Amino acid sequence: MVKLLNNTYTTFKTIFNGMGITFRHLFKRSVTVQYPEVRDVLPERVRLKLHVNIDDCIGCRLCERACPVECITIGTIKSTDDDDLGETSTGHKKRLWVNQFDIDMAKCCYCELCVHPCPTDCITMVEDYEYSVYDRQDLLFGFSDMTPEQVNEAEEKLAKEALEKKKKKEAAKLAKKKKAESSENQPAADEDAEKAAKKAEREAKRAARRAEKEAEKARKEAEGGASDSGSTGASDESQPENRQDPNE
Ligand code: SF4
Ligand code: SF4
Repeated sequence: MVKLLNNTYTTFKTIFNGMGITFRHLFKRSVTVQYPEVRDVLPERVRLKLHVNIDDCIGCRLCERACPVECITIGTIKSTDDDDLGETSTGHKKRLWVNQFDIDMAKCCYCELCVHPCPTDCITMVEDYEYSVYDRQDLLFGFSDMTPEQVNEAEEKLAKEALEKKKKKEAAKLAKKKKAESSENQPAADEDAEKAAKKAEREAKRAARRAEKEAEKARKEAEGGASDSGSTGASDESQPENRQDPNE
């Protein structure tokens, strides 16, 4: 009997407590909003969804590395020398094509660790919370704006450039090797030329000496001939002197 009375008392007490709270709220300002017609003002720095301004992304992958749950996947292709990808709004030079930039919001824990290292401030949390889906695969958001054709073109161009560079490098290597070989042979060629020059010099000296000797000989012969003819002339000249006129 006592237990029954106790239970009845507790029942009425809790009912009056609950009704009292409800009654008090009848005279207070309402805190609920008529969503979606009415939307509440969101607090500052709210973390709801990630957005990437792909035009400003330089493909540095700092955000990908910072993510603790690996929900960011980035793919890049190097631009070729003749490509000019321009600059970001923060003045950073773009050198990579970003052919993939996926964020899996189903995995994201809203820590915002990916936002802070970004050098161009292009990955941010935005005030968008209305992205409920039936399939969790639909929470994989892609931000790259490259078409498959553009990706193929960029990859082909890069492969072609790499091949050309390789060929040029090999040609330069070959030319360098040839130059080194010719410079190795050059001293021998110089030595030969020197020897030939010395030989020619020696022969020239020998020829000069020979010519000198011949000239000397010729001179001597000429002198000898002259003395002979001189002596003959004297006898010829002496003849008239010595010749006695028989009449004298
Ligand atoms: S908010 Fe955190 S979990 Fe989400 S993508 Fe960025 S780093 Fe990863
Ligand atoms: S850190 Fe910023 S610039 Fe670098 S890949 Fe991520 S979003 Fe792009």
